[in-house]
Amino acid sequence: MSNRPAMFGFKTRRRNRLRSQAFPESWLAVVRRNVPHYARLSPLEQQELRADVQVFVAEKNFEGCGGLEMTDEIKVTIAAYACILLLHLQHDYFPRLQSVLVYPDAYAVPVMRLGPGGHVVTGHEMRAGESWRTGAVVVSWNHVLHRPVDPSGSRNVALHEFAHQLDQEDGSANGAPVLPSTSMYGAWARILGREYQKLSEDAAVGRPTLLDKYGATNPAEFFAVVTEYFFEQPVQLKERHPELYEEMRLYYGQDPARKASAA
Ligand SMILES: [Zn+2]
Repeated sequence: MSNRPAMFGFKTRRRNRLRSQAFPESWLAVVRRNVPHYARLSPLEQQELRADVQVFVAEKNFEGCGGLEMTDEIKVTIAAYACILLLHLQHDYFPRLQSVLVYPDAYAVPVMRLGPGGHVVTGHEMRAGESWRTGAVVVSWNHVLHRPVDPSGSRNVALHEFAHQLDQEDGSANGAPVLPSTSMYGAWARILGREYQKLSEDAAVGRPTLLDKYGATNPAEFFAVVTEYFFEQPVQLKERHPELYEEMRLYYGQDPARKASAA
C-alpha cells in the first residue's frame, strides 16, 4: 500500500492551516517596506502572497552565513520575492528547494580555472547569489535589500535566483521552466532563443542593450535576467522586447507593465 495520498493530504492540511493564520503585523510592515512590488498587486494577489509567505517561511530552512544573524525581516523579505514569482503559477512551493543561505553581503567563492599551459589556477570570485539544483538558494542580504545597486549587474538577486529554481524544477537549468501548457514550448523556444542570440551578438560587439549582458552567459542566465526585468522594469521590457515580454506574461500569468502604467 502506498502512503502517498495520506502524506499529500497531511501536507495540504498543514499548508492550509499556515495559509489561514493571521499574518503578523510586523511581517506586513516588512513586506511593505522592503518589497515595493507588493503595493502594485491587487488585493486578492496580496492576500495570496501573504498566505504563500507563511508556507514558505515555515517550510524552508533559513540559515545565516558569514556571521549573519537570521531574523524574521530577512526571512519574510526573501520569501516575499520568491512567492511573487509563484502568484499565478501552478506550483508546489519550489519543491526541490530546502534551504536559503544568506550572507550579509557579497561573498567569496573558491573557483578553479584552467590557466596557461593547462595548469589549474585557483582563486576566488565574489558573488551576490547562487541557485543550486541540489536544493539551496544562496543570496547576499545587502543585495536583496538594495536591489538596484548591484556591482555584478543583477537588479534583483532574489527574483533572479528563484527564477533559476523554477528553471531547475524539471531537473535541468536550460532557460525553460515547466510551462503551463505544452503548446507554449514552440513559441518559447523560438522567441527566447532569438532574443538570447541577439543579446549575445550585441554583447560580443559591445552594442548597448536594455538587458544586462550577463544574460548572454547562457540560456539559464538569460531567463533569470529577463525575469528580473519583467518585474523590475516591465514597461521598458515591453517597449523594447514586446514578444519576449509576452512570453513572460503568458508564463508568469502576470502583467506588471499594465500595472506600472496604471499606477
Ligand atoms: Zn544566475
